[in-house]
Amino acid sequence: MYYIGNHLSTSKGYEAMGKAALKLGGNTFAFFTRNPRGGKAKEINETDIENFLKIAKENKFGKLVAHAPYTMNLCAAKEDIRNFSREMIADDMRRMEYTPNNYYNFHPGSHVGQGAETGIKLIADALNDILTKEQTTTVLLETMAGKGTEVGRNFEELLCIIDMVNLKDKLGVCFDTCHVWDAGYDIVNNLDGVLDEFDKIIGLDKLLAVHFNDSMNDCGTHKDRHAKIGQGKIGLEAMKRVATHPLLVGKPFILETPNDDEGYAEEISLFKSWQNI
Ligand code: FE
Ligand code: FE
Ligand code: ZN
Repeated sequence: MYYIGNHLSTSKGYEAMGKAALKLGGNTFAFFTRNPRGGKAKEINETDIENFLKIAKENKFGKLVAHAPYTMNLCAAKEDIRNFSREMIADDMRRMEYTPNNYYNFHPGSHVGQGAETGIKLIADALNDILTKEQTTTVLLETMAGKGTEVGRNFEELLCIIDMVNLKDKLGVCFDTCHVWDAGYDIVNNLDGVLDEFDKIIGLDKLLAVHFNDSMNDCGTHKDRHAKIGQGKIGLEAMKRVATHPLLVGKPFILETPNDDEGYAEEISLFKSWQNI
């Protein structure tokens, strides 16, 4: 079984996203829980949710990988930004329960000069306040490229956050191929070694989803500019090895490539052509 999809627009609701995913050939997708630059979320429409859940069930969708807004920064230096970010994620947790048992991915944050250690503590403190035993959503920390003062620039930093969170079974990691490459993990020449390192540091049982992107830059450049599959520095062969790696198959793969619908449909069908189905 494989799950592939792309990042869809939230503007027309859940049923529209389900239909859009199917139209592109996908069986999962990502979406922003609210405007990517933050702000108020749209009211949940229960009929829309019901219609979507029916589509997802009938078409055997994999887990969705919702994405928190970019402005969310649980380790901002300013307390009001931290509080605003906490409110956003707590509200998103409530909203995610309308579509239970899915994933909610977020960028751990930027420590903005306070140091990674302080950033890690602030992020973990926030998660300890927000996560509940009752929630069915698993929160994913995204592997980051290490641009600016991003926290989560290596597997060790992600482990530090996980280690400090009490409800560890509510946490996982989203492996962004562009980001890990830009962070300095050579998934082109040593994918097995990188996954082995992930396993030794965090544990592969925590790797729950993949952001499937090529990169415009070289390994270790800490840039974070996504490229279309096969058109970047990671390249087609290495992307195929990621897509078909026995330790990764069966996870939701989400395209965040600079594409239009036609491009996404092509990448989704390319991904499917690689799977032994
Ligand atoms: Fe992201
Ligand atoms: Fe990503
Ligand atoms: Zn990125």
